[in-house]
Amino acid sequence: MVAQVIDGKAFAAKVRAQVADQVAKLKEENGITPGLAVVLVGEDPASQVYVRSKGKQTVEVGMNSYEHKLEANTSEEDLLALIDKLNSDPAVHGILVQLPLPKHLNEDLVINSIDPAKDVDGFHISNVGLLGTGQKSMVPCTPLGCLMMLREHHGSLSGMDAVVIGRSNIVGKPMAQLLLGDSCTVTIAHSRTKDLPDVVRRADIVVAAVGRPEMVPGDWIKEGATVIDVGINRIERDGKNKLVGDVDYASAAERAGAITPVPGGVGPMTIACLLANTLTACCRANGLPEPEGLTA
Ligand code: NAD
Repeated sequence: MVAQVIDGKAFAAKVRAQVADQVAKLKEENGITPGLAVVLVGEDPASQVYVRSKGKQTVEVGMNSYEHKLEANTSEEDLLALIDKLNSDPAVHGILVQLPLPKHLNEDLVINSIDPAKDVDGFHISNVGLLGTGQKSMVPCTPLGCLMMLREHHGSLSGMDAVVIGRSNIVGKPMAQLLLGDSCTVTIAHSRTKDLPDVVRRADIVVAAVGRPEMVPGDWIKEGATVIDVGINRIERDGKNKLVGDVDYASAAERAGAITPVPGGVGPMTIACLLANTLTACCRANGLPEPEGLTA
């Protein structure tokens, strides 16, 4: 079997177009422009690239983008004061604090100081609790993107066996909750899982979110399974820098029914879902119906 490639780049473009349509409608019919505030503390080069890309795509879909760049030695007090200001600013519907934060700042404290209704990353403990109890919440962007791709490919996921490899708060755990919400039978595997190959071989859906280059070989994949590769790993091969996922793409594509490539799979969906979450937050804040197909 040769796997169908799930094109995350094309799907993300479709999501962004849907968001842009809804934003145009909001402006025309309600006079509202959704706004996303992104807070970056320090000068981490990867974070700077992400923040620039988020700002650019926010403006491209017609939303307002507010960037707040703070010095690496910013005090917790000053950062919390800024978040407080953004929480009460009616023009700001989404707030994202770019992680990781410099070591002297308490990440949990900072994230939990964001108004949960504006927490477009879905990391606030209230949103984690709401998601875990099947209530309306803000859903973390990367797992939301994975879910959208799975729904688009399969329609219903009900009754499927899903294995999520990785138990992080930002990908693995919320991914498992979302799959459970769509009535999959979910296994969360992690670094202490006994016989990982055997666990993965049972899965109709494999979501790999580990951060280890090509650690899942093709012979762990059940014939016809759908493979969602969240991993982004920079490696050097044949003297060149390359991005690879957590799955060995070439061998997995021979057995899977469908697979996301790296790059061009899950990656582009993350920012598209951030924009979708900002739109959702804006609609909720204004008591308007939520955009269809853009939430969990
Ligand atoms: P993390 O380091 O927080 O978590 C990794 C998880 O993998 C842990 O729960 C750990 O138990 C598990 N693990 C480690 N070694 C293992 C092993 N040998 N076998 C099984 N499980 C093992 O990472 P994260 O933040 O969840 O990110 C995971 C990957 O996804 C990284 O490559 C990251 O760059 C990528 N990522 C991509 C996006 C995107 O937009 N596409 C977003 C977030 C993260």
